[in-house]
Amino acid sequence: MDLFVTFIGTAASVPTATRSTAATLIARGGDRWLVDCGEGTQRQLLRSGLGLVDVDVVLLTHLHGDHLLGLPGLLKTYGLRERDRPLALIGPPGLAGLLERLGVVVGRTPYPIWIEETGPGVVLETAGARMEAFHTDHSVPSLGYALVEDPRPGAFDLAAARALRIPEGPLYGRLQRGEAVALPDAREVRPEEVLGPQRPGRTVVLSGDTRPCAGTEAAAAGATLLVHEATFLEDESQRAVETRHSTAREAAELAARAGVELLALTHLSSRTLPREARRQAEEAFPDVIVPRDFDQVELPFPERGGPVVHRGGEGGVGRGPRVAASGDPGSLSSDDL
Ligand SMILES: [Zn+2]
Ligand SMILES: [Zn+2]
Repeated sequence: MDLFVTFIGTAASVPTATRSTAATLIARGGDRWLVDCGEGTQRQLLRSGLGLVDVDVVLLTHLHGDHLLGLPGLLKTYGLRERDRPLALIGPPGLAGLLERLGVVVGRTPYPIWIEETGPGVVLETAGARMEAFHTDHSVPSLGYALVEDPRPGAFDLAAARALRIPEGPLYGRLQRGEAVALPDAREVRPEEVLGPQRPGRTVVLSGDTRPCAGTEAAAAGATLLVHEATFLEDESQRAVETRHSTAREAAELAARAGVELLALTHLSSRTLPREARRQAEEAFPDVIVPRDFDQVELPFPERGGPVVHRGGEGGVGRGPRVAASGDPGSLSSDDL
């Protein structure tokens, strides 16, 4: 099953000429989940080459403007496109009141919006995976999110199946799915007789805005990808403490402790040079990237190799989207707006 993480906005606090404020799209199979929705997210999605993705869920890490000012526009545009699928909005306490106030701007939508204020724990479940929220340490109530896949059954051992004289066909599929089967000669075969050891799923963790904290570290233990904020460089480490943010180096130290496979640094302040953020992080943890807006990380199943970074850019992710937007990209003219 495909799993892609696309960086839609990677700036802290204010957009710059090249970076938009916080938004990250997770695409897994047919699911489209947006984590944070900074100002201009809908236009960023269009510019990414993915089109205006009909996301199923928007997860907010906290209620600071640079993580949610894109919501009114996105909600409104979905309405103009006559979306009828429900949209779930999940975030920390205060979300429902905020949405109520935004209602003046958004107006009535032709699709239902489900609002869920949440704390730590499982917030979403889908086939073979769940999204968990965890506490983080920012200046307002804040959450990080971890997409955690279930372990998968082991690889099918064809030689073992043949040795057991299991007829080829549907019985193979049932065994692969973990079912015991009865053979025509009345023998029973258990799945562990023809499957290798369980194979791990993938884990993607997004810290949101936070000091380095135990919640993120626990969620990121052994993660395939940790997307951690790195608002500041070392020369502003005191400011990071005061504003409850992290430096690039602190994020890398946490990644090293957690043993993640790949660290992506995001939420860069306009004063932070990406190359310098990477250099400082690499002193603590080697496998680090500082994505630009529209860059994408593809996460194959572990047995098929490690994460692959696709560089994005104007006009498309990796010059041609690797992951299709679900739903029709729509064709609003300026007259519609
Ligand atoms: Zn922020
Ligand atoms: Zn914040």
